[in-house]
Amino acid sequence: MTANIANAAPQGRYAIAVHGGAGRYDYNQFTDEQKAAYHAGLREALLTAKQVLEANGTAVDAVQAAAIKLENNPLFNAGKGAVLNSAGEVELDSSIMDGKTLAAGAVAGLKTTKSPITAARTVMEKSEHVMLQGAGADAFAKAQGLEQVPNSYFITPERKKQLENAQASKEKVNLSKFGTIGVVVLDRYGNLAAGTSTGGLTNKQWGRVGDSPIIGAGTYADNNSCAVSATGHGEYFIRATVARTICALVEFKGMPLQEAAEFVVKDKLVKMGGEGGVIAVDAHGNIALVMNTPGMFRGSLKEGEEPFTGILAGDK
Ligand code: ASP
Repeated sequence: MTANIANAAPQGRYAIAVHGGAGRYDYNQFTDEQKAAYHAGLREALLTAKQVLEANGTAVDAVQAAAIKLENNPLFNAGKGAVLNSAGEVELDSSIMDGKTLAAGAVAGLKTTKSPITAARTVMEKSEHVMLQGAGADAFAKAQGLEQVPNSYFITPERKKQLENAQASKEKVNLSKFGTIGVVVLDRYGNLAAGTSTGGLTNKQWGRVGDSPIIGAGTYADNNSCAVSATGHGEYFIRATVARTICALVEFKGMPLQEAAEFVVKDKLVKMGGEGGVIAVDAHGNIALVMNTPGMFRGSLKEGEEPFTGILAGDK
């Protein structure tokens, strides 16, 4: 009989990576205080996932718990502090995937559900579907008992200002910064999971859906290869099926994770003109944090090691 390792006693070491968006960042644009707040937010997310995993929680549990911290942190473009669409409203997209079962859940265009990642997980576990959108997605979340808030709960003065600037500028949709959040985890049972949550792009056409809730584009996880969460100009990430392509290169070509992530982000996407980055972890606990932008808010933590957080591409 083949043992189901996934259900056996924990025997591996966990690995976690998080991101808080990629972009054309320049160190001088942040005060020391702001930099410290970003590092602290990323670190808090890593430590939240760590706590779940050390209590022998699953990769899916850890992804959700860390993502909620980032959604609740107004610095990041997800949940509270998400960017505004062209109509001055927040529309939230999110997805989650369990690499053990290939189960996945996604939501797009949420307006009142406080935690989009929780809504995505609820779609995965409590519905017959993979993706719900718009009013139906909020109604489903509400019916499942998920906390509802007015749309104004998500809106911060900083994001209002960003919308005004975007609407006044020639570059209508602001593509200089992507603040989406994402988490990828390998748990002690050898299971991978990935999750992504976002407000999308500042001044996006209302109704627009990006890559974050698209399984295979913004999020993918498969125990046979890796777990990936992306951030960047979603239209390109959808067309390049970024997350799934990285996993497919690892699974079918035997490419090392770092190489696969670099090929997709720094070669394929660059040739298409798509800016952004990914975080990824493979079934062996290797982590890749790869971007083609000057920066990406990111962090990683391997069991028994110190957490790392970084902002600019060169941060080590
Ligand atoms: N990828 C997201 C989108 O296009 C934006 C981001 O990463 O911040 O909706």
